[in-house]
Amino acid sequence: MKIRIDGGVVVGWSGTGHEIIPNGSVIIDNNTIESVGTDKSLPVDKVIDASGKIVSPGFVNLHVHSQLNVGDYLLADVTRKDYLTANWFVFGAPLKEKVTPPPAPAVAIGRKFALFSALKNGSTTVLDPGGGPGALDEYVAIAGQQGGRVFFSPPYRSADIFTDVQGRHYYEEREDRGRPGLKRAVEFIKQYHGAHNGRVQGILNPAQAETCEPSLLKESVAAAKELDVPIHIHAGGNTREFLHILNSHRKPVVEYLADTGILGPRTTLGHMAITGGHSRIDYPRGEELKLIADSGASVGHCPHKCAKMAFAMESFDQYLAAGINIGLGTDTYPLDIIAEMRYASLISRLVDKNASGARPAAVFNAATIGGAGALGRKDLGRLAVGAKADVVIVNLRTTRYGPARDPINALVEYGSGADVETVIVDGEVVIENGRSTRIDEDDLFAQADAGAKRAWDSWAGRDWNGRSTEDIIPPAFPTRR
Ligand SMILES: [Zn+2]
Repeated sequence: MKIRIDGGVVVGWSGTGHEIIPNGSVIIDNNTIESVGTDKSLPVDKVIDASGKIVSPGFVNLHVHSQLNVGDYLLADVTRKDYLTANWFVFGAPLKEKVTPPPAPAVAIGRKFALFSALKNGSTTVLDPGGGPGALDEYVAIAGQQGGRVFFSPPYRSADIFTDVQGRHYYEEREDRGRPGLKRAVEFIKQYHGAHNGRVQGILNPAQAETCEPSLLKESVAAAKELDVPIHIHAGGNTREFLHILNSHRKPVVEYLADTGILGPRTTLGHMAITGGHSRIDYPRGEELKLIADSGASVGHCPHKCAKMAFAMESFDQYLAAGINIGLGTDTYPLDIIAEMRYASLISRLVDKNASGARPAAVFNAATIGGAGALGRKDLGRLAVGAKADVVIVNLRTTRYGPARDPINALVEYGSGADVETVIVDGEVVIENGRSTRIDEDDLFAQADAGAKRAWDSWAGRDWNGRSTEDIIPPAFPTRR
């Protein structure tokens, strides 16, 4: 099947960077970009009119947990102030006695909804550091059905995090020290790496810097090398983790990770906002940014999630200047990579008190070639001849943008995933006129709605103090009875 996309503002590839081609034309041959230019005469099977629209490389989203927003909704817990910016503990650190695996249908609907939501909002590739557990063959089937690219294997760790009856968080070493989890991940990758015409890719997910003992990280590095896959690890995502590692190892998290050997060109550090020298940390910044840059490791920056918890990376521009490859991830809902570019830009400007910082080109690069580089893929994140045919078409002719002088500046300043009209992955149109060509979106939404409501309504049954969703997050306004 050959597709020609005519008339849009094409974000092409010069050989070294993105370039703008007004009134351009992109030709897709099966799953590959065949040409990027202005010739609209070549015969094809299908023509897509992109006049007034931006024809962009598909975005690479380095942080999509394949789950519903049940926990996201609870992040800003009003009942306590001692989370040390790690508000995910509200749903991720249960009472040990109340740990129950979620029912399989709930896991499935979380996977379906998250992968679809990210895709529909413009992310043609996602890195999934883990959602609900189990049913791994079903995971692969869901990823195949939703239509996007996903880098995944089940996460593992050598220590779990719990909350006690007084609401105190603690780490507890697992009896199995995480090794069965690593083994499961390796087996998953051996079985499914390359499934669905390469849309399913393996990546190892040692879960968090402070929940994986150094020997588990070393074994992860060896396994990733043998499997020839990248690694993702949450690190530098909150001050509790930083203090835990500082207390245990007397060094900041980056130095700790460097000593385990996990920093390297195929490793992505999810978040990496909290380092020595951060304004929330009483420890000087040493050579941490240089250590990351010299190792070739990437940072999966999720500015919106950090902002929800009232802190920021300090800063996007400073990391770039240090030579670090940065990709962007959404982490929590909305899984809108276009809005995430704006958060990355604005928050960096705020941190540096520099209105001309974090330029649109820099955050657009992060959301495309930065993410692709983190995953070791030169055939993603760019509309270059021979690259994978992953394309996103965004309508710029709406009142949201007004007259757009420069398409990238406009997209970053004003854009939204809601403006994504067409998504093509591996040469197939999977979103057309804003709707899935593969699944029943209304049915998916109804299932997600019912699943999330069930979880919120029964939250008190699993909470450490029997708190309801409304205790944790009071309604914005009272409801008239
Ligand atoms: Zn995460």
